[in-house]
Amino acid sequence: MPYCKICGSGTVVVYLPYAKMSLCQNCFLEFYVKRVKKTVEEYKMFREDDVVGVAVSGGKDSSALLHSLRKAFPKLELKALHINLGIPEYSEHCESKVKLLAKSLDTELITYDIRERLGFTVEDFMETRFRRKICSICGTIKRHIFEEMALEAKVRVLATGHNLDDMVSVMLNTFFNGHWSQLIRIKPILPPLADGMAYKVKPLIRSLEKENLLYCMYSEVPIRSLGCPHSNQTGIRKYMQLLEKLSEEDPGFKYIILNRFLELIPIIENAVPKPTLTQCKVCGFPSTNEICSYCKRTSLVKQKEDNY
Ligand SMILES: [Zn+2]
Ligand SMILES: [Zn+2]
Repeated sequence: MPYCKICGSGTVVVYLPYAKMSLCQNCFLEFYVKRVKKTVEEYKMFREDDVVGVAVSGGKDSSALLHSLRKAFPKLELKALHINLGIPEYSEHCESKVKLLAKSLDTELITYDIRERLGFTVEDFMETRFRRKICSICGTIKRHIFEEMALEAKVRVLATGHNLDDMVSVMLNTFFNGHWSQLIRIKPILPPLADGMAYKVKPLIRSLEKENLLYCMYSEVPIRSLGCPHSNQTGIRKYMQLLEKLSEEDPGFKYIILNRFLELIPIIENAVPKPTLTQCKVCGFPSTNEICSYCKRTSLVKQKEDNY
């Protein structure tokens, strides 16, 4: 019968194999929040007098992020930023969870409804040649809109809920495919693309996906119970499965990969020529091409709307 390694209580709810620690509910929650705080401080992600935007989707990762940042930095000004993607049933469900969470934390919530603002939804891409790439399109759209929202909300920093599993599988994916410039983009803290834009930070890089879910359960954080109908991560899944196998052998394996990559990224950054950024002719955002990928993709569905 294990006892909590921190307080000695007999009601253990979780075992963290990489740290050889059994923990009770309270000690797990404290351990989780402390790790988020330490990660923020270690990478100097923000100061306590900053205004920090948190990209929240209604899923476990971003919800755990918003909640734990509130606990770790009680005085920090947080703004929850949410995008309603217009996916039938799913998007309404997500938005309702985000509203509950923001309310429970007494945090300002700003929602960007893409149907209202742009006149199309992510769903509309199902009728384009990008039908099979809808997840990557959705990613491009979200990245662009969050930059826009950060500008509008005047936040200096934008925090996202990328977890350890995401980080490590993307690291392996970019590494095996030699996508060096993408590898550089997954640093824990990224400077603004242009003056006035936000820093992007990832305070959950040391938190496992499973731990984010447990954190939400034990802190009674409202999260979505529906999955996205379009979700399909075949490319990344391959590395996720590989990582699970390797982690069975060595529970600390994901942390080892993360740490080695974090050492490697600055070296690669110095060796790889920096892409020259120009301004997108349509939206004015920094881009490596004349027209950024967001404007290229969205013009497909905008054209369709215009033809009605
Ligand atoms: Zn305990
Ligand atoms: Zn553009």
